[in-house]
Amino acid sequence: MLFSLQSPPMTMTTIAHRAVFLDRDGVVMHDANYVGDVERVIVVPAALRSLKRLLDAGYRLFVVTNQSGVGRGYFTREAVEKIHAYLDAEFAKVGVHFDRYYVCPHHPEDNCDCRKPKPKFLREAAAEYGLDLARSFMVGDRSTDIQCGQNAGTRTILVLTGVGSETLAKGEVQPDHVAADIGHAVDWILQQG
Ligand SMILES: [Mg+2]
Ligand SMILES: [Zn+2]
Repeated sequence: MLFSLQSPPMTMTTIAHRAVFLDRDGVVMHDANYVGDVERVIVVPAALRSLKRLLDAGYRLFVVTNQSGVGRGYFTREAVEKIHAYLDAEFAKVGVHFDRYYVCPHHPEDNCDCRKPKPKFLREAAAEYGLDLARSFMVGDRSTDIQCGQNAGTRTILVLTGVGSETLAKGEVQPDHVAADIGHAVDWILQQG
């Protein structure tokens, strides 16, 4: 074919998908400060219990994570991929599949274009998967997660796991909702219709 058009993410009968973007550390796994080793990964039980309900309701799931430990030389990109393979295996046991892990491996001082709060990954996902960001959600425990969602035009939920309580106390951001953990965040999302 001379002109192979890029395969369109949406068909003629476009149904924009809804998505939930999940921060990784402090939301789906414990935030233990620069985890680069699978052996240190502890999956958040509430995530294992709750995320399937989002899939059942038609949401697509994405993980969006800043891993500056790579840019700082604490661990490699391959180590990050290993952790994600482990998470995939653990979540597969409960019927949960993440469409994509979006990883910013850069040092904050690199001034890259992908580190949260920049909305690049969410916009990329929207284009590639045909997502309606206004009907999507970003869930995280840091101000940068909330700002990232707001910058991309999603609704936002601050969870109080990880460093979420400290983030709430700082009062720098106004999420649409504050939830005790990812399970309560899922409850709220499903109530929004
Ligand atoms: Mg986090
Ligand atoms: Zn980056």
